[in-house]
Amino acid sequence: MAFTFVSLVSLVVAQRAIGVQAPDWKAVGAEATQLLQQYVSIDTSNPPGDTRKTADFLASVFEREGIPVTRYESAPGKAIIYARLKATMTPAAGKAILLLHHMDVVPADRSQWKVDPFAATIVGGEMRARGALDMKGLGVAHLMAFLMLKRQHVPLARDVILLAEPDEEVGGAMGARWMIANHYAELDPEFVLDEGGFGSPDLFTAGKLVYGISVAEKKLLWLKVRATGVAGHGSQPNDQNPNDRLVRALARLLAEPLPGPSASSVASGLMSTMHERVGAFAINKFTNAIQHSTIAVTTIRSGVGDPPKANVIPSVAEATLDCRVLPGTTRDQWLADIRRGLGDPGLEIDVISESDDPIVSPQDTPLYRSLEAAIHRRHPDAVITPILVPYGTDSNAFRPRGVTSYGIFPAPVSADEVASMHGDAEHVRLDAIPEAAQVFFEAIRETATRQSSRAAARD
Ligand SMILES: [Zn+2]
Repeated sequence: MAFTFVSLVSLVVAQRAIGVQAPDWKAVGAEATQLLQQYVSIDTSNPPGDTRKTADFLASVFEREGIPVTRYESAPGKAIIYARLKATMTPAAGKAILLLHHMDVVPADRSQWKVDPFAATIVGGEMRARGALDMKGLGVAHLMAFLMLKRQHVPLARDVILLAEPDEEVGGAMGARWMIANHYAELDPEFVLDEGGFGSPDLFTAGKLVYGISVAEKKLLWLKVRATGVAGHGSQPNDQNPNDRLVRALARLLAEPLPGPSASSVASGLMSTMHERVGAFAINKFTNAIQHSTIAVTTIRSGVGDPPKANVIPSVAEATLDCRVLPGTTRDQWLADIRRGLGDPGLEIDVISESDDPIVSPQDTPLYRSLEAAIHRRHPDAVITPILVPYGTDSNAFRPRGVTSYGIFPAPVSADEVASMHGDAEHVRLDAIPEAAQVFFEAIRETATRQSSRAAARD
């Protein structure tokens, strides 16, 4: 962790001002490593996504600290953990800040991993394990910030909630969405801090430390494209072979440039801010996906018999397209674009899955400014920008409720670490966890004081 002298002084002054002793962040780091080791050792691969043991683990941490903890179970094996620190200042400055993470992980193909994905292997200062970054590592950063607010008796002008939930990796129906549907009154936050963006020296652009705070997601649209034609013997090709039609149409579609945001859309404002702050983006799959609507051909199915016969022309061929669409483009606009790109009006196109239209969270908030300030104290030269993320997170379930949600792992991680998520070498630098915890701790503490001083000025 690199502190400048000036930032260290301002930190100490800020802490004196509210009568709180500085936490020992080195000790916090050692504790975070221990907790992460225990956490990633519990296999919560989804499916089946059984989170009972991780819920036991987190509950025992809170009980040890004297923090009341509530446990829910949305379905057999789908345990949820909820803990709340109450505001200590009156009047409260606003509704709660919710630290949100998922306990489930994607499955690990052990035959491809060089280490046991659930053995919490530490090599060269890195944790190598499934969930190390997505999302148990970030969950431990939330947890340490939460525990330090309690241990340091930080005056809180708002409640702070920690919610650990199951099921995110399969869409969140039994996790965040279940809590929202069944226990919203217990949550009702103004802000959610979730996964999504990162700080990184090379992910966004080479040689410049950029923190991308996610304020929106792309819209997911899964499509099935179906060509029908005339079956026959492979020795005598006909001109109504559905494979030919499908392949030609997909080739036309994929040859088109990826669409950027439409000029007046909400995404175009976000893109201009990103480009102004970051400059030219590095060329990689992540930066491509945050600047464009994208299409991935994920399945192509055809043939007669199992295994399919090589000498039979089938009557049907199908492909699925995983489309991720920038905010501001509607489902109907996107479908029209796809139809035009395929260039074959005879193809059937069905929507097989669709997420809600994305909502963009505002940046003009005390929490966003406090996150920026806490990051700049550590890295004065860092560029901080709002971004959207190409994948779905649970924030998408909160934003339609009017909740402002930011996705950020607020410590530098490399493009290599980011790319390792869901892969067979997932890893995270261990000292990134306490650094992220410290940013959360300071941002939450400052959001409290900023809000209350404003409220006082109004009174
Ligand atoms: Zn995740």
